Amino acid sequence: MRIVCVGGGPAALYFAICAKRDDAGHDITVREQDPPGATYGWGVVCHDRLLDMLYYTDRESAQEIRQRSTLWQEQEVHLPGSRPGYLPGYGFSVPRTGLLDALRTRADALGVRVTQDDPVPAGALHDNTFAGADLVVVADGARSRLRDHDPSRYGTTVTTGRNPYIWLGTRKQFAAFTFAFEHTTAGWIWCYGYPTSDGVSTFIVECTPETFTGLGLDVLPHADGIAVLQRIFADVLGGAPLLSNSRGRAARWQRFLEVRNTTWVADNTVLLGDAAHTTHFTMGQGTSLAMTDALMLASAIAEHPTIGSALGWFDDRGREALANTQAGARTGAAWFERVDHYLDRDPMEFAYALAHRHGDQPPWRFQLHRATQLAAFRRPRRALHTGRRQWRALRRGEAVPARRPRV
Ligand SMILES: Cc1cc2nc3c(=O)[nH]c(=O)nc-3n(C[C@H](O)[C@H](O)[C@H](O)COP(=O)(O)OP(=O)(O)OC[C@H]3O[C@@H](n4cnc5c(N)ncnc54)[C@H](O)[C@@H]3O)c2cc1C
Repeated sequence: MRIVCVGGGPAALYFAICAKRDDAGHDITVREQDPPGATYGWGVVCHDRLLDMLYYTDRESAQEIRQRSTLWQEQEVHLPGSRPGYLPGYGFSVPRTGLLDALRTRADALGVRVTQDDPVPAGALHDNTFAGADLVVVADGARSRLRDHDPSRYGTTVTTGRNPYIWLGTRKQFAAFTFAFEHTTAGWIWCYGYPTSDGVSTFIVECTPETFTGLGLDVLPHADGIAVLQRIFADVLGGAPLLSNSRGRAARWQRFLEVRNTTWVADNTVLLGDAAHTTHFTMGQGTSLAMTDALMLASAIAEHPTIGSALGWFDDRGREALANTQAGARTGAAWFERVDHYLDRDPMEFAYALAHRHGDQPPWRFQLHRATQLAAFRRPRRALHTGRRQWRALRRGEAVPARRPRV
Protein backbone atom coordinates (compact mmCIF):
# COMPACT_ATOMS: atom_id res chain seq x y z
CA MET A 1 0.00 0.00 0.00
CA ARG A 2 1.24 3.52 -0.78
CA ILE A 3 0.86 5.79 2.24
CA VAL A 4 1.75 9.48 2.58
CA CYS A 5 1.82 11.14 6.00
CA VAL A 6 1.73 14.92 6.31
CA GLY A 7 3.72 16.15 9.33
CA GLY A 8 6.65 14.50 11.06
CA GLY A 9 5.43 14.70 14.67
CA PRO A 10 4.94 11.78 17.06
CA ALA A 11 1.60 10.81 15.50
CA ALA A 12 2.84 10.36 11.92
CA LEU A 13 6.24 8.90 12.80
CA TYR A 14 4.82 6.35 15.21
CA PHE A 15 2.09 5.41 12.75
CA ALA A 16 4.75 4.87 10.08
CA ILE A 17 6.76 2.65 12.44
CA CYS A 18 3.76 0.55 13.45
CA ALA A 19 2.44 0.17 9.90
CA LYS A 20 5.84 -0.75 8.50
CA ARG A 21 6.36 -3.33 11.25
CA ASP A 22 2.99 -4.86 10.39
CA ASP A 23 3.77 -5.00 6.68
CA ALA A 24 7.26 -4.28 5.38
CA GLY A 25 5.76 -4.05 1.88
CA HIS A 26 4.03 -0.74 2.59
CA ASP A 27 5.61 2.21 0.79
CA ILE A 28 5.44 5.00 3.39
CA THR A 29 6.57 8.62 3.08
CA VAL A 30 6.45 11.11 5.97
CA ARG A 31 6.66 14.74 4.82
CA GLU A 32 7.81 17.27 7.44
CA GLN A 33 7.92 21.02 6.83
CA ASP A 34 10.78 21.77 9.25
CA PRO A 35 14.44 21.28 8.39
CA PRO A 36 16.41 18.61 10.28
CA GLY A 37 16.97 19.53 13.92
CA ALA A 38 14.17 22.11 14.15
CA THR A 39 11.06 21.69 16.24
CA TYR A 40 8.97 23.53 18.80
CA GLY A 41 8.67 22.93 22.54
CA TRP A 42 10.69 21.34 25.31
CA GLY A 43 9.85 18.28 27.41
CA VAL A 44 6.65 16.28 27.25
CA VAL A 45 5.51 14.17 30.16
CA CYS A 46 4.60 10.54 29.76
CA HIS A 47 3.58 7.86 32.22
CA ASP A 48 3.98 4.13 32.74
CA ARG A 49 0.90 3.35 30.71
CA LEU A 50 2.43 4.88 27.57
CA LEU A 51 5.81 3.21 28.19
CA ASP A 52 4.06 -0.16 28.60
CA MET A 53 2.33 0.35 25.26
CA LEU A 54 5.54 1.47 23.52
CA TYR A 55 7.54 -1.51 24.81
CA TYR A 56 4.78 -3.91 23.85
CA THR A 57 4.51 -2.44 20.33
CA ASP A 58 8.08 -1.66 19.26
CA ARG A 59 10.85 -2.40 21.75
CA GLU A 60 13.59 -0.63 19.78
CA SER A 61 11.97 2.80 19.73
CA ALA A 62 10.62 2.34 23.28
CA GLN A 63 14.09 1.70 24.63
CA GLU A 64 15.46 4.79 22.85
CA ILE A 65 12.64 6.97 24.19
CA ARG A 66 13.09 5.64 27.71
CA GLN A 67 16.83 6.29 27.61
CA ARG A 68 16.20 9.92 26.67
CA SER A 69 13.64 10.48 29.39
CA THR A 70 14.06 11.76 32.92
CA LEU A 71 12.13 10.63 35.95
CA TRP A 72 10.41 13.12 38.25
CA GLN A 73 8.89 12.20 41.58
CA GLU A 74 6.20 14.05 43.50
CA GLN A 75 4.61 17.37 42.70
CA GLU A 76 5.17 20.60 44.60
CA VAL A 77 2.78 23.52 44.67
CA HIS A 78 4.30 26.89 45.60
CA LEU A 79 2.32 29.95 46.64
CA PRO A 80 4.02 33.21 47.63
CA GLY A 81 5.37 33.39 51.17
CA SER A 82 4.37 29.90 52.35
CA ARG A 83 5.77 26.40 52.50
CA PRO A 84 4.94 24.28 49.44
CA GLY A 85 2.04 21.86 49.25
CA TYR A 86 2.86 18.30 48.09
CA LEU A 87 1.05 15.95 45.75
CA PRO A 88 1.86 12.32 44.99
CA GLY A 89 2.85 10.72 41.70
CA TYR A 90 5.74 10.32 39.33
CA GLY A 91 6.24 10.53 35.62
CA PHE A 92 8.85 10.72 32.89
CA SER A 93 9.70 13.71 30.77
CA VAL A 94 11.28 13.34 27.35
CA PRO A 95 12.59 16.27 25.29
CA ARG A 96 10.51 16.66 22.17
CA THR A 97 13.70 16.84 20.10
CA GLY A 98 14.93 13.53 21.56
CA LEU A 99 11.56 11.88 21.06
CA LEU A 100 11.44 12.92 17.40
CA ASP A 101 15.08 11.91 16.80
CA ALA A 102 14.39 8.46 18.26
CA LEU A 103 11.25 7.98 16.17
CA ARG A 104 12.86 9.26 12.96
CA THR A 105 15.88 6.98 13.38
CA ARG A 106 13.66 3.97 13.93
CA ALA A 107 11.36 4.86 11.02
CA ASP A 108 14.40 5.27 8.80
CA ALA A 109 15.80 1.86 9.87
CA LEU A 110 12.47 0.23 8.96
CA GLY A 111 12.56 1.74 5.47
CA VAL A 112 10.15 4.66 5.91
CA ARG A 113 11.05 7.66 3.71
CA VAL A 114 11.13 10.77 5.92
CA THR A 115 11.56 14.00 4.00
CA GLN A 116 12.32 17.25 5.82
CA ASP A 117 12.14 20.86 4.74
CA ASP A 118 9.18 19.59 2.73
CA PRO A 119 6.01 21.60 3.47
CA VAL A 120 2.80 20.23 1.99
CA PRO A 121 0.58 22.98 0.55
CA ALA A 122 -2.65 23.73 2.44
CA GLY A 123 -4.81 22.83 -0.56
CA ALA A 124 -3.12 19.48 -1.17
CA LEU A 125 -6.23 17.42 -0.35
CA HIS A 126 -8.05 19.20 -3.17
CA ASP A 127 -5.55 18.91 -6.02
CA ASN A 128 -3.53 16.00 -7.30
CA THR A 129 -0.65 16.24 -4.82
CA PHE A 130 -1.47 12.78 -3.48
CA ALA A 131 -2.38 11.13 -6.77
CA GLY A 132 -1.52 7.44 -6.53
CA ALA A 133 -1.60 7.29 -2.73
CA ASP A 134 -3.89 4.63 -1.22
CA LEU A 135 -3.98 6.47 2.09
CA VAL A 136 -3.17 10.04 3.21
CA VAL A 137 -2.56 10.53 6.94
CA VAL A 138 -3.07 14.17 7.92
CA ALA A 139 -0.96 14.63 11.07
CA ASP A 140 0.11 18.25 10.75
CA GLY A 141 -0.77 19.26 14.31
CA ALA A 142 -3.42 21.32 16.11
CA ARG A 143 -3.14 24.18 13.62
CA SER A 144 -3.49 21.78 10.67
CA ARG A 145 -3.51 23.81 7.49
CA LEU A 146 -4.72 20.89 5.39
CA ARG A 147 -7.73 20.34 7.67
CA ASP A 148 -8.54 24.04 7.94
CA HIS A 149 -8.41 24.59 4.17
CA ASP A 150 -11.93 23.16 4.16
CA PRO A 151 -13.34 22.82 7.72
CA SER A 152 -16.54 21.20 6.42
CA ARG A 153 -14.59 18.18 5.18
CA TYR A 154 -14.15 16.76 8.71
CA GLY A 155 -16.73 18.96 10.51
CA THR A 156 -13.97 20.85 12.32
CA THR A 157 -14.53 23.21 15.26
CA VAL A 158 -11.58 24.98 16.85
CA THR A 159 -12.18 26.83 20.13
CA THR A 160 -9.50 29.17 21.41
CA GLY A 161 -8.74 29.03 25.14
CA ARG A 162 -8.70 32.16 27.26
CA ASN A 163 -5.28 32.05 28.88
CA PRO A 164 -2.03 32.84 27.06
CA TYR A 165 0.90 30.48 27.69
CA ILE A 166 4.50 30.19 26.56
CA TRP A 167 6.60 26.99 26.38
CA LEU A 168 10.13 27.68 27.64
CA GLY A 169 13.13 25.86 29.06
CA THR A 170 15.44 26.71 31.93
CA ARG A 171 18.84 25.72 33.30
CA LYS A 172 17.22 25.25 36.70
CA GLN A 173 17.15 21.53 37.56
CA PHE A 174 13.76 20.71 39.05
CA ALA A 175 13.53 17.39 40.88
CA ALA A 176 9.74 17.37 41.29
CA PHE A 177 6.97 18.52 38.96
CA THR A 178 6.63 22.08 40.22
CA PHE A 179 3.69 24.48 40.07
CA ALA A 180 4.52 28.02 41.24
CA PHE A 181 1.98 30.85 41.41
CA GLU A 182 3.11 34.46 41.71
CA HIS A 183 1.03 37.53 42.39
CA THR A 184 1.98 40.65 40.40
CA THR A 185 0.55 44.15 40.26
CA ALA A 186 -1.37 43.01 37.17
CA GLY A 187 -2.73 39.76 38.66
CA TRP A 188 -1.71 36.08 38.99
CA ILE A 189 0.78 34.31 36.76
CA TRP A 190 2.03 30.74 37.21
CA CYS A 191 4.47 28.19 35.84
CA TYR A 192 4.84 24.44 35.42
CA GLY A 193 8.47 23.26 35.77
CA TYR A 194 9.80 19.71 35.42
CA PRO A 195 13.16 18.10 34.65
CA THR A 196 13.61 17.17 31.02
CA SER A 197 17.20 16.27 30.24
CA ASP A 198 20.66 16.78 31.68
CA GLY A 199 20.90 20.38 32.86
CA VAL A 200 17.59 21.51 31.36
CA SER A 201 14.04 21.64 32.66
CA THR A 202 10.80 22.52 30.91
CA PHE A 203 9.19 25.75 32.09
CA ILE A 204 5.69 26.65 30.86
CA VAL A 205 4.24 30.00 31.94
CA GLU A 206 0.51 30.73 31.87
CA CYS A 207 -1.59 33.67 33.05
CA THR A 208 -4.96 35.30 32.59
CA PRO A 209 -5.42 37.73 29.67
CA GLU A 210 -5.67 40.58 32.21
CA THR A 211 -2.26 39.75 33.70
CA PHE A 212 -0.82 39.32 30.22
CA THR A 213 -1.76 42.79 29.02
CA GLY A 214 -1.26 44.36 32.47
CA LEU A 215 2.39 43.25 32.46
CA GLY A 216 2.79 44.42 28.87
CA LEU A 217 3.68 40.91 27.69
CA ASP A 218 1.51 41.49 24.63
CA VAL A 219 3.63 44.43 23.44
CA LEU A 220 7.11 43.99 24.92
CA PRO A 221 9.90 42.83 22.59
CA HIS A 222 10.56 39.11 23.08
CA ALA A 223 13.78 39.46 25.14
CA ASP A 224 12.21 42.06 27.44
CA GLY A 225 9.18 39.82 28.02
CA ILE A 226 11.48 36.93 28.97
CA ALA A 227 13.35 39.26 31.35
CA VAL A 228 10.03 40.16 33.03
CA LEU A 229 9.25 36.45 33.55
CA GLN A 230 12.72 35.83 34.91
CA ARG A 231 12.20 38.55 37.51
CA ILE A 232 8.73 37.32 38.49
CA PHE A 233 9.89 33.71 38.92
CA ALA A 234 13.31 34.55 40.37
CA ASP A 235 12.64 32.52 43.55
CA VAL A 236 11.48 29.32 41.92
CA LEU A 237 14.21 29.59 39.26
CA GLY A 238 16.86 30.21 41.89
CA GLY A 239 18.45 32.73 39.53
CA ALA A 240 18.80 30.23 36.63
CA PRO A 241 18.15 31.69 33.16
CA LEU A 242 15.09 30.99 31.05
CA LEU A 243 15.72 29.54 27.60
CA SER A 244 13.37 30.80 24.96
CA ASN A 245 14.96 29.21 21.91
CA SER A 246 14.35 25.60 21.13
CA ARG A 247 16.69 24.56 18.31
CA GLY A 248 16.84 27.97 16.77
CA ARG A 249 13.25 29.18 17.15
CA ALA A 250 12.07 31.74 19.68
CA ALA A 251 9.07 30.55 21.67
CA ARG A 252 5.87 32.55 21.18
CA TRP A 253 2.91 33.20 23.44
CA GLN A 254 -0.02 31.07 22.32
CA ARG A 255 -3.52 30.21 23.38
CA PHE A 256 -4.68 26.61 23.64
CA LEU A 257 -6.77 25.42 20.69
CA GLU A 258 -9.40 22.84 21.45
CA VAL A 259 -9.83 20.86 18.23
CA ARG A 260 -12.88 18.71 17.58
CA ASN A 261 -14.03 17.00 14.39
CA THR A 262 -17.32 15.23 13.74
CA THR A 263 -15.36 12.70 11.69
CA TRP A 264 -11.66 11.96 11.30
CA VAL A 265 -12.10 10.35 7.91
CA ALA A 266 -12.93 11.64 4.43
CA ASP A 267 -12.42 9.39 1.38
CA ASN A 268 -8.93 7.89 1.71
CA THR A 269 -7.68 10.58 4.12
CA VAL A 270 -7.57 10.40 7.90
CA LEU A 271 -6.76 12.92 10.64
CA LEU A 272 -4.33 11.73 13.31
CA GLY A 273 -3.05 13.18 16.61
CA ASP A 274 -3.52 16.88 17.34
CA ALA A 275 -4.99 17.49 13.87
CA ALA A 276 -7.91 15.26 14.96
CA HIS A 277 -8.26 16.25 18.63
CA THR A 278 -6.44 18.18 21.33
CA THR A 279 -6.43 17.99 25.11
CA HIS A 280 -5.19 20.90 27.21
CA PHE A 281 -1.47 20.65 27.95
CA THR A 282 -2.12 20.54 31.71
CA MET A 283 -3.43 17.00 31.10
CA GLY A 284 0.03 16.04 29.76
CA GLN A 285 -1.58 13.55 27.37
CA GLY A 286 -1.43 14.93 23.82
CA THR A 287 1.65 12.97 22.77
CA SER A 288 0.40 9.78 24.40
CA LEU A 289 -2.94 10.13 22.64
CA ALA A 290 -1.24 10.87 19.31
CA MET A 291 0.88 7.72 19.60
CA THR A 292 -2.08 5.65 20.74
CA ASP A 293 -4.03 6.86 17.69
CA ALA A 294 -1.06 5.84 15.55
CA LEU A 295 -1.03 2.31 16.91
CA MET A 296 -4.82 1.98 16.61
CA LEU A 297 -4.82 3.12 13.00
CA ALA A 298 -1.94 0.84 12.00
CA SER A 299 -3.61 -2.13 13.72
CA ALA A 300 -6.91 -1.35 11.99
CA ILE A 301 -5.18 -1.35 8.61
CA ALA A 302 -3.44 -4.64 9.38
CA GLU A 303 -6.63 -6.32 10.54
CA HIS A 304 -9.30 -5.09 8.13
CA PRO A 305 -9.77 -6.37 4.61
CA THR A 306 -10.14 -2.90 3.05
CA ILE A 307 -8.90 0.59 3.75
CA GLY A 308 -12.52 1.79 3.93
CA SER A 309 -13.47 -0.61 6.72
CA ALA A 310 -10.22 0.08 8.62
CA LEU A 311 -10.82 3.83 8.54
CA GLY A 312 -14.48 3.41 9.53
CA TRP A 313 -13.49 1.29 12.55
CA PHE A 314 -10.75 3.75 13.57
CA ASP A 315 -13.11 6.71 13.27
CA ASP A 316 -15.77 5.10 15.50
CA ARG A 317 -13.54 3.51 18.11
CA GLY A 318 -10.96 6.27 18.30
CA ARG A 319 -13.47 9.05 18.87
CA GLU A 320 -15.41 6.97 21.37
CA ALA A 321 -12.23 6.19 23.36
CA LEU A 322 -11.34 9.88 23.49
CA ALA A 323 -14.65 11.32 24.71
CA ASN A 324 -13.98 11.12 28.49
CA THR A 325 -10.42 12.40 28.23
CA GLN A 326 -11.48 15.40 26.19
CA ALA A 327 -14.28 16.22 28.67
CA GLY A 328 -11.78 15.99 31.56
CA ALA A 329 -9.34 18.19 29.71
CA ARG A 330 -11.97 20.84 29.21
CA THR A 331 -12.82 20.88 32.94
CA GLY A 332 -9.10 21.14 33.75
CA ALA A 333 -8.53 24.02 31.35
CA ALA A 334 -11.57 25.86 32.73
CA TRP A 335 -10.20 25.40 36.28
CA PHE A 336 -6.97 27.19 35.33
CA GLU A 337 -8.95 29.95 33.63
CA ARG A 338 -10.64 30.64 37.00
CA VAL A 339 -7.65 29.84 39.18
CA ASP A 340 -7.62 33.26 40.91
CA HIS A 341 -10.88 32.21 42.64
CA TYR A 342 -9.00 29.47 44.52
CA LEU A 343 -5.78 31.30 45.32
CA ASP A 344 -6.91 32.62 48.69
CA ARG A 345 -6.43 29.11 50.18
CA ASP A 346 -3.32 27.84 51.91
CA PRO A 347 -0.94 25.75 49.76
CA MET A 348 -2.13 22.44 51.25
CA GLU A 349 -5.79 23.12 50.41
CA PHE A 350 -4.96 24.73 47.11
CA ALA A 351 -2.79 21.77 46.08
CA TYR A 352 -5.69 19.43 46.87
CA ALA A 353 -8.08 21.50 44.75
CA LEU A 354 -5.54 21.54 41.91
CA ALA A 355 -5.04 17.78 42.00
CA HIS A 356 -8.77 17.08 41.97
CA ARG A 357 -9.83 19.77 39.55
CA HIS A 358 -11.47 17.13 37.34
CA GLY A 359 -14.11 16.00 39.82
CA ASP A 360 -15.41 15.18 43.34
CA GLN A 361 -13.41 13.01 45.73
CA PRO A 362 -14.32 11.02 48.85
CA PRO A 363 -13.55 12.87 52.15
CA TRP A 364 -10.83 10.36 53.23
CA ARG A 365 -8.71 11.48 50.30
CA PHE A 366 -8.41 14.96 51.74
CA GLN A 367 -7.35 13.52 55.13
CA LEU A 368 -4.66 11.46 53.38
CA HIS A 369 -3.54 14.53 51.47
CA ARG A 370 -3.31 16.53 54.71
CA ALA A 371 -1.25 13.78 56.39
CA THR A 372 1.16 13.48 53.47
CA GLN A 373 2.21 17.12 53.70
CA LEU A 374 4.63 15.82 56.36
CA ALA A 375 7.86 14.30 55.08
CA ALA A 376 7.52 11.35 57.48
CA PHE A 377 4.26 10.33 55.76
CA ARG A 378 5.45 11.09 52.27
CA ARG A 379 8.50 8.80 52.53
CA PRO A 380 6.56 5.49 52.70
CA ARG A 381 4.27 6.63 49.90
CA ARG A 382 7.28 7.47 47.77
CA ALA A 383 8.81 4.06 48.51
CA LEU A 384 5.53 2.43 47.46
CA HIS A 385 5.54 4.36 44.18
CA THR A 386 9.18 3.50 43.56
CA GLY A 387 8.40 -0.18 44.08
CA ARG A 388 5.43 0.01 41.73
CA ARG A 389 7.46 1.87 39.12
CA GLN A 390 10.33 -0.64 39.26
CA TRP A 391 7.93 -3.56 39.04
CA ARG A 392 6.28 -2.10 35.94
CA ALA A 393 9.68 -1.40 34.36
CA LEU A 394 10.71 -5.00 35.02
CA ARG A 395 7.43 -6.35 33.66
CA ARG A 396 7.79 -4.51 30.36
CA GLY A 397 11.40 -5.67 30.07
CA GLU A 398 12.98 -2.26 30.36
CA ALA A 399 16.77 -2.31 30.26
CA VAL A 400 18.59 -0.05 32.68
CA PRO A 401 19.10 3.31 30.92
CA ALA A 402 22.70 4.09 29.98
CA ARG A 403 22.32 7.50 31.60
CA ARG A 404 20.53 6.82 34.85
CA PRO A 405 17.71 9.25 35.63
CA ARG A 406 17.81 11.05 38.92
CA VAL A 407 15.75 9.28 41.61
C1 LIG B 1 2.93 23.73 26.20
C2 LIG B 1 2.62 22.31 25.82
C3 LIG B 1 2.99 21.28 26.66
C4 LIG B 1 2.70 19.97 26.32
N1 LIG B 1 3.05 18.99 27.19
C5 LIG B 1 2.72 17.72 26.91
C6 LIG B 1 3.04 16.68 27.82
O1 LIG B 1 3.61 16.92 28.88
N2 LIG B 1 2.70 15.40 27.50
C7 LIG B 1 2.05 15.10 26.35
O2 LIG B 1 1.74 13.92 26.11
N3 LIG B 1 1.73 16.06 25.45
C8 LIG B 1 2.04 17.37 25.71
N4 LIG B 1 1.71 18.35 24.83
C9 LIG B 1 0.95 18.00 23.62
C10 LIG B 1 1.83 17.45 22.50
O3 LIG B 1 2.90 18.33 22.20
C11 LIG B 1 1.00 17.21 21.25
O4 LIG B 1 -0.22 16.63 21.60
C12 LIG B 1 1.73 16.28 20.28
O5 LIG B 1 2.90 16.89 19.81
C13 LIG B 1 0.84 15.93 19.09
O6 LIG B 1 1.57 15.23 18.13
P1 LIG B 1 1.21 15.36 16.57
O7 LIG B 1 2.19 14.50 15.86
O8 LIG B 1 -0.23 15.12 16.38
O9 LIG B 1 1.44 16.90 16.22
P2 LIG B 1 2.78 17.76 16.26
O10 LIG B 1 3.69 17.24 17.29
O11 LIG B 1 2.35 19.18 16.35
O12 LIG B 1 3.46 17.50 14.85
C14 LIG B 1 2.94 18.02 13.66
C15 LIG B 1 4.09 18.17 12.68
O13 LIG B 1 3.56 18.54 11.42
C16 LIG B 1 4.43 19.47 10.82
N5 LIG B 1 3.65 20.20 9.82
C17 LIG B 1 2.69 21.11 10.04
N6 LIG B 1 2.18 21.54 8.87
C18 LIG B 1 2.85 20.88 7.89
C19 LIG B 1 2.76 20.90 6.47
N7 LIG B 1 1.86 21.67 5.83
N8 LIG B 1 3.62 20.12 5.76
C20 LIG B 1 4.52 19.31 6.40
N9 LIG B 1 4.64 19.27 7.74
C21 LIG B 1 3.79 20.03 8.48
C22 LIG B 1 4.92 20.31 11.99
O14 LIG B 1 6.12 20.97 11.68
C23 LIG B 1 5.08 19.25 13.08
O15 LIG B 1 6.38 18.70 13.07
C24 LIG B 1 2.01 19.67 25.12
C25 LIG B 1 1.67 20.70 24.25
C26 LIG B 1 1.96 22.00 24.60
C27 LIG B 1 1.56 23.11 23.66
